[in-house]
Amino acid sequence: VAGYLDQIKTYAHLNAFNEVFADEAAAQAKQVDERIKQGVAGKLAGMVIAIKDNICYEGHKVSASSKILSDFTSIFSSTIVKRLLAEDAVIIGRCNCDEFAMGAANENSYYGPVHNFADTTRVSGGSSGGSAVAVQANMCHAAIGTDTGGSVRQPASFCGMIGFKPTYGRISRHGIIAYASSFDQVGPITRSVEDAALLYEIMAGADEYDSTLSRKAVNAAPVVADSSKKRIAYLQEAVSSRGVDTEVKAALVNTIDKLRADGHTVEPISFEYLDYLVPTYYILATAEASSNLARYDGVHYGYRSPEATDLQSTYKKSRSEGFGKEVKRRIMLGTFVLSAGYYDAYYAKAQKVRKLIRTKTEEILNQYDFLLVPTAPEPAFEIGKGETDPVRSYLADIFTVQASLAGVPAISLPVGNNSKGLPLGLQLLAKHFAEQELFNFAEYFL
Ligand code: GLN
Repeated sequence: VAGYLDQIKTYAHLNAFNEVFADEAAAQAKQVDERIKQGVAGKLAGMVIAIKDNICYEGHKVSASSKILSDFTSIFSSTIVKRLLAEDAVIIGRCNCDEFAMGAANENSYYGPVHNFADTTRVSGGSSGGSAVAVQANMCHAAIGTDTGGSVRQPASFCGMIGFKPTYGRISRHGIIAYASSFDQVGPITRSVEDAALLYEIMAGADEYDSTLSRKAVNAAPVVADSSKKRIAYLQEAVSSRGVDTEVKAALVNTIDKLRADGHTVEPISFEYLDYLVPTYYILATAEASSNLARYDGVHYGYRSPEATDLQSTYKKSRSEGFGKEVKRRIMLGTFVLSAGYYDAYYAKAQKVRKLIRTKTEEILNQYDFLLVPTAPEPAFEIGKGETDPVRSYLADIFTVQASLAGVPAISLPVGNNSKGLPLGLQLLAKHFAEQELFNFAEYFL
């Protein structure tokens, strides 16, 4: 803990943490040391973890990197925090992220952008950018993020780390600040597949406070490297499209060649709904967000405008002053697609398209063991130089939202750096509940 705290101080300019629980983490570490001596320590004894600042931890602030929650203290712990602490993890702090987890660069935070440790002029990725950089810059052993449409996998790939999103319905969201509930998942960012599997195993499994969870038994750790021959599909468009960076393509092609040379069957597939992935995701995610964020009304939670004079002005002014630009954009978009005159044309239609995407993805994963795609179309870009057109920046989520729409597990794995020294990542998708197969095969890439 002392070593990580030093590192956090040295690299404070990366802006990875919204708050460091220094004294508390040191005290927790002492207690864990004691339990190790007594031989009664849990499975995470010695593991120092950072959590994304949208995960509730009793008695600690939780802001979702928003002004509207900047002074909010959680009165209970999320199920995952309880499970991590029960196994003797030490929680070292809460990490910066995009406001309400909306973004893919960590540039939408009330607390400012997070800087990539590989090149501090570049973004960390998002929305769990602080969590990814905390691991990348050795400020903790592992971090927990949330992934609605790629927010664990994409920052992990921008930072050269491993990012894992489980099957929808494996890890409890009780105590996670909701963004889009039919997508939101919790996932670890780690340096090893072993750690990802262990953290997954401890966090996953039924919880009476999250009714979406499966009761299936959870099995993941220990990871046993799988050397059997696999059938793997890759997305043809990822290699042929002009929208994908040439070095990202090269990383994919090299991996395909290596897999083939090692005797695996690797075949191109074309995904007929590719152009509909991003629009479908953004219609549904913003609709759900507009509903979830209705609770921040200046009365129940968080910030209340000092200018408010009556109920209407409390709502209007607190929300206008408390939410950032991107969050407001999404609330408006989501409210629009849910409004009476447009519901059938957008929201209901997107639900149907989602079903098609899910069915088609399942078909592919029934024919193949895994689907291999890049995590992102390009590596980390320069801070402030990202796309100013929101639609174009949403399109950069093209490779991560498929697993989110289909609810299947996916892992982003680091596959080296580009010519500028920026990390590149590839993603493996697997069948629902095939986490163990995913972890066992992931070892091949490292
Ligand atoms: N970039 C996507 C979005 O902004 C995904 C974010 C996430 O997974 N939380 O919605």
